[in-house]
Amino acid sequence: MDTYYNSYNDDLKKKFGCRVYKVSIDAGFTCPNRDGSKGIGGCVFCDEMGSSSRTNGPAISITDQLLKNIDVRRTRYKAQKFIAYFQSFTNTYAPVSHLKKLYDEAIAAHPDIVGLAISTRADCVDAEKLALMASYRSRVPYVCVEYGLQTIHDRTLLRLNRQETHDDFVRAIQLTQALELDHCVHVILGLPFETREDVMATADKIAEYRIQGVKIHFLVAMERTPLAEQYHRQSWQPLSMDETVSLTCDFLERLPPECVIYRIGGNGHPRHAIAPTWVWQKKKEVIDMVNEEFQRRGTRQGCRAGRNS
Ligand code: SF4
Repeated sequence: MDTYYNSYNDDLKKKFGCRVYKVSIDAGFTCPNRDGSKGIGGCVFCDEMGSSSRTNGPAISITDQLLKNIDVRRTRYKAQKFIAYFQSFTNTYAPVSHLKKLYDEAIAAHPDIVGLAISTRADCVDAEKLALMASYRSRVPYVCVEYGLQTIHDRTLLRLNRQETHDDFVRAIQLTQALELDHCVHVILGLPFETREDVMATADKIAEYRIQGVKIHFLVAMERTPLAEQYHRQSWQPLSMDETVSLTCDFLERLPPECVIYRIGGNGHPRHAIAPTWVWQKKKEVIDMVNEEFQRRGTRQGCRAGRNS
């Protein structure tokens, strides 16, 4: 089946000429929205794994996490090069000297590590931390910062208990782009009380800000999260598979064609997902359905970018 969007896998293959995989790291971070400095409950969708799909734990050293998972990916997926991916919780939430130690260890763990990806909150970066990240470009060819944007709407961020605002994101992305650091944003489809128009407004802003990459998550209620309670109380209903596919295509149509789509799928670890279960049971079918829907419409990513209709 043809792909009607600009996929990250293809982008990495073009960049490196071989199969490249991200290898997740849990470096033992927490988050200002969990440790009390901004909030204690965390975002309503975030479970105790910090919104990651990790199988590692912080008790294992960064080097061992990487070596173990590089072996698995090399055997299972025939990957040849790797990106060390600081995924769990907020991976810039520490003093610069500590961050440097962790990032140094990651890029030195294996000679086939060609990149560093760091996932964080916009309110947890500043010029010094971003300059540290940028400094690794002299040691590996690829350094990317990933921001949990989720939505551009402050009223939704409030409902999510996100404890940050869209202005925080704008400030962070301006600093990031000034340093010409590779970057991507995570967005969530199916957020409580968001209309299609709200979601399209987020897509239009991403296009306006010339964001390089987007990771599209479908909202999933994980065990022991406030969102799971909302689901059980029926105050939040997940989107159906068909609604999600249609919304994903609408969203992608409005992004510029060159924007790289890092991933399309559910958040969290499938073992702890409560609803909607199709997100994990039909992971591959959903991607096929997105491409089939584009084929049926005769459209593709970018066909509505800048048209705001
Ligand atoms: S989703 Fe990210 S910002 Fe929100 S509580 Fe979890 S780790 Fe913190």
